[in-house]
Amino acid sequence: MRLSRYFMPILKENPKEAEIVSHRLMLRAGMIRQQSQGIYSWLPLGKRVLDKVNKIIREEQDRSGAIELSMPTLQSAELWQESGRYEDYGKEMLRIKDRQDRAMLYGPTNEEMITDIFRSSVRSYKSLPLNLYHIQLKFRDEIRPRFGTMRSREFLMKDAYSFDLTKEDAIHSYNKMFAAYLRTFDRLGLRAIPMRADTGPIGGNHSHEFIILAETGESEVFSHEDFVHFDIPGEDTDFDDVAGLQAIFDKWTSVYAATSEMHDEAAFGAIPETDRLSARGIEVGHIFYFGTKYSEPMGAKVQGPDGKEHLVHMGSYGIGPTRLVPAIIEASHDENGIIWPASVAPFDVVVINMKPGDEVCDRLCESLYAGLGKAGKDVLYDDTDERAGTKFATADLIGVPVQVIVGPRSAANGEVEVKDRKTGERQVMTSGAALNRIA
Ligand code: ATP
Ligand code: MG
Ligand code: MG
Ligand code: MG
Repeated sequence: MRLSRYFMPILKENPKEAEIVSHRLMLRAGMIRQQSQGIYSWLPLGKRVLDKVNKIIREEQDRSGAIELSMPTLQSAELWQESGRYEDYGKEMLRIKDRQDRAMLYGPTNEEMITDIFRSSVRSYKSLPLNLYHIQLKFRDEIRPRFGTMRSREFLMKDAYSFDLTKEDAIHSYNKMFAAYLRTFDRLGLRAIPMRADTGPIGGNHSHEFIILAETGESEVFSHEDFVHFDIPGEDTDFDDVAGLQAIFDKWTSVYAATSEMHDEAAFGAIPETDRLSARGIEVGHIFYFGTKYSEPMGAKVQGPDGKEHLVHMGSYGIGPTRLVPAIIEASHDENGIIWPASVAPFDVVVINMKPGDEVCDRLCESLYAGLGKAGKDVLYDDTDERAGTKFATADLIGVPVQVIVGPRSAANGEVEVKDRKTGERQVMTSGAALNRIA
């Protein structure tokens, strides 16, 4: 991508409305724009990051055996009347009337709809286990939308829903998501801690929130230090191995971790003082086992091996991609801007032409741009006429992991400077060496 032809509306000044660093940086880097309170457009740079986050989420859902579909954002109120949640959900639900005066709503979550899809076509236990997910916009009319896309009214959620014949099978499905979440957050460059959680309006009795620690987090959390050192389940994790997945769950829930709602002061006090972690956190994912809470009122049953009808046991599993993007920034930035983990960086490398119009610089930049692109890298080429200082500031602000700086003096010797955004380390090398190093 040539910056001169791209759309990346950088802000020079700090936007006043932004209270936390991620919101400030997302606005300054031209990643998002607020359209009305708590409702955002994702501009091209932001969209690139969001797509990469979604891709990782998808890969790990698929690896665990979940299957993607797509459900609509608008739902009929009837389904929610069946489950009994239409009244319960209260003011967070955006209720809409269509032209025939039918009650509709903008979905805040999809338990009812997926249960309806399930009951309309699944008849036998032989079709189980089944886990269906989508990545779709949700709407919750939050009392206090704030911090940009961290707590917005319209937001993206990956929501998965599992169906099993028995509670034991459902716990295995739960453990699959538990392991998939650990892998997902790790690949996003985050250390998420699973914490026993309150189930809120989703209901149920077995639930964990995945929390990343950050000063600006809205939840107060208490945990054992040890989490920082636990191993993440590998790529070779066997998701059909019931005992193996239970062992992962047991390990990750063996030491204390709870949000303030579930906090047990005595249990926390029993941890040696130096191992106690009392901090603030951001909820980035939440998983629930809720048994027959929806299958019962909505009549979702299958025939079991005994020939009888059984209500299915269900769970639901949410991750917030549009919250994860600012959460990653909260965890990874410095005074100059964002520092993207390589896995979600909007571009892998930025080639900075210090003197566009200079024949040698242009030639070297063009060949690097083409060569890196051919090697499969996402390359941003800063071919603009901005001052050097502005170019450096922009590259640092948008947080691309590697910068290749091409100035007239070194270019004359076929040399460029390669800068690591995270460490700030700079190295001069030939453009061929730079290409080899980065590609
Ligand atoms: P919170 O406690 O922050 O209000 P929640 O517990 O209501 O979140 P869940 O129903 O558990 O949210 O939804 C699953 C995931 O969706 C959350 O873990 C979070 O990542 C994301 N999410 C929920 N509400 C929002 C929001 N208003 N803006 C952005 N992401 C959200
Ligand atoms: Mg909420
Ligand atoms: Mg919550
Ligand atoms: Mg939650």
